Order: sequence, then C-alpha cells, then structure tokens
Amino acid sequence: MNPLLHIVQILRSDRSGEDRANGVMILTRFLASIVMMLFLVFGIICQVQALYPYNLYFYVAAILMFLLLVISYRFKRGYTITMGFLLIMFAISYATGPALGWKASFQDYMFLGIMACWYDSSKSVRQKAVISFIIAMLIASLAIYCSAPSMIIDEASAAYRGMVIMNVLVFSTCLCIVAYFLCSQTVNDERKLLLYNQKLKHIAGVDPLTGLMNRRAVGEKFEELSHIQDAVVTVAIGDIDFFKTVNDTRGHDCGDYVLKTLASEFEKFMSERGYVARWGGEEFLFVFSDSNGDDTYAMLESLRDKIEHYTFDFFNHEFNITMTFGVEEYSSRFGTEEAIKKADEKLYLGKESGRNKVVY
Ligand code: GH3
Ligand code: MG
Ligand code: MG
Repeated sequence: MNPLLHIVQILRSDRSGEDRANGVMILTRFLASIVMMLFLVFGIICQVQALYPYNLYFYVAAILMFLLLVISYRFKRGYTITMGFLLIMFAISYATGPALGWKASFQDYMFLGIMACWYDSSKSVRQKAVISFIIAMLIASLAIYCSAPSMIIDEASAAYRGMVIMNVLVFSTCLCIVAYFLCSQTVNDERKLLLYNQKLKHIAGVDPLTGLMNRRAVGEKFEELSHIQDAVVTVAIGDIDFFKTVNDTRGHDCGDYVLKTLASEFEKFMSERGYVARWGGEEFLFVFSDSNGDDTYAMLESLRDKIEHYTFDFFNHEFNITMTFGVEEYSSRFGTEEAIKKADEKLYLGKESGRNKVVY
C-alpha cells in the first residue's frame, strides 16, 4: 500500500463512533502530525543557525505533539485533544514569538480552533461564543506580547524567509484540511439524511406483518401506472375465505402464519407482473401492470387453484384455505379508485355466490 495512504488510514482509525467529537479528534490528529514535522524542521533550522535554546523549544513542542497523537489513540476524547493542540500552539508561540517574530509564529493555527468549536453540534451558541472569545483573547495577548519583537534572527536571511514560507504553506495546508474535513462531513450528513429519509419512506409504505406494500404505497404505484399512455392495467382484490374460522379454531398466530405465507407466494407470483399489497386485514390488492381483464382472470384462476391445493402446515397441523378474487380492468374514464371499488364489488359477488372463485 502507498505509505501516505497507510498514514492517512492510521490517523483516521477509531471511526467506530461517527460523532462529531470523534471527527474533530481525527482532524486534530492530521493537524498535529503536520505541525509536528514543521516543529522538527524549525528545530533543525534553529540548531543550524545556533539559535539556542529555540531549537530545544521546537523539539519539545514536536515531542508534545507526538505525545498528543499517542494520547488520542488511548483516551479518544475529541475536544480535549483539540484543546491540547491549541495549548501547545499557544505555548510555542509564546516561547518563540518575540525572538522569531509574528510572521514565523503560530498564532494563526489557533484560529482553526475557533472553526472546530463552531463545528461541534453538542455545544450551545453561547458556549461556542465563549470559547471563540477565549481563543481570540489568547491570540490578542500573543499579538501584544510579540508587538515589539527582540528578533534574534535576521529577517532578511534565507533561513528566516524559508521559515516564514514554510509556515505559510503548512498553515494553508492545515486550513485546506480543516475546510475539506468540514465540507466532507456536511456532505456525509446530507447523504445520511437522504438514506434515513429513504428508509423512513420505505417503512411508511410497508406492511409490518407481511412485508408487502401497504395500501398507501400500492395506491401510489397504481396511480403511476394509470398515467402511462396505452398501458393496460388491471386491478384485483383477493380475500381469504372464512379466515375468521382459521383464527378462531387454530389461533391468531396461525392466522398470521397464513397471511405471511400467502404474502410471500403472492410476491413471487407478481414479481414480473406488477405489484401486490396488503389491502386490509386478510385482503390483498393486485395491480397487473400490463394485462387486460381476461389475461388477469386466467392468471388469477391458476393462482386460486394453487392456493386451494396448497397445504399449510402450522406446527404439524395441516390445513387448506381458499380465496375469492374480484377483477377489474382500469379505465381512464373512471380512475383508479373506481377500478378498485368495482373489483371489490366483484369480490363481494364471488363471496355471495359460493367463494373460492375469480369474478371478472
Ligand atoms: P369471508 O369468507 O366472508 O371473507 O369470511 P372471513 O372470516 O374471512 O371474513 P371476516 O371479515 O369475518 O373476518 C376476517 C378476519 O380476519 C377477522 C380478523 O380477526 C382477521 N384478521 C384481520 N387481520 C388479521 C391479522 O393481521 N392477523 C390475523 N391472524 N387475523 C387477522
Ligand atoms: Mg375473508
Ligand atoms: Mg375481508
């Protein structure tokens, strides 16, 4: 694996909790590891330029950043880690600011703390404002402290210019990382919201017992199909005969078992033909997306026959049931509701005339 990718993966580990605090901790890890490198380089430059003890200050700051990284893997306290980062940045700015000047100092990194704190959704606006104010005051105190720098390095020297340029580049990189992080988190949040919405919509349209579409969802599907030009759509309602007797003699659980078994058979039966839904208690609605009344009648006749000869087995008690169907071809003249109403009337006729039949 690409070593850079490997490092990124290590820094991004512990994503088990996808909350914001965790996100801020991972962001801080990225910043801490980049800044740690900068401190090392600055330490080396100070050593070469014989700027003692500033070389040591930078080495100590680099070690502290390293410790912060290690701690972040042990304690996983997002905001504490970020506070630690800000404190180290403040301390090193304080220690080196007057000697190296404002341009090569690290106050700008503390502004990143303000951004991170506003990103935290668990804190109130008031708390965020207070934290931002404290950080701003710390930066202001640094500005005053460094306002009359007793520079120990020649501002025109290549080493100093190099340090300033490096600082600007590293800060820009950190800023990009923070911006990227916040952006991608927002995109992530939106994606999650979209998924939850889809899930909710799915749940809202599903019958919990059978897993079939419910009345509302199939109504929408039927409406959609009815708007397709030249589509021949047929609707049917199927009702279990004497279902109350199944419940009364074998128990409600057995009744549920029958409903679930039929639902899964219906789903298979309708997979290429259209939609099936639980219309009510023991009634099912079938919408045939591309069949006229006669074809639907023939298909339902074979289904009715299959049900009649299907042996239900509930805890070793075998039994059979039958179903009655009413069929109506959709016509744009009357609309979907009227088609369902007519199918229901035909179902009633079927019940009246002896059950276990398809009426068209
Ligand atoms: P018919 O042939 O005239 O349709 O007679 P039926 O007994 O099937 O009709 P009826 O309307 O008298 O009874 C329907 C029964 O369906 C009554 C009700 O307890 C049962 N039922 C409705 N929903 C459920 C359910 O979710 N689970 C179970 N087990 N039974 C249900
Ligand atoms: Mg019934
Ligand atoms: Mg009924």
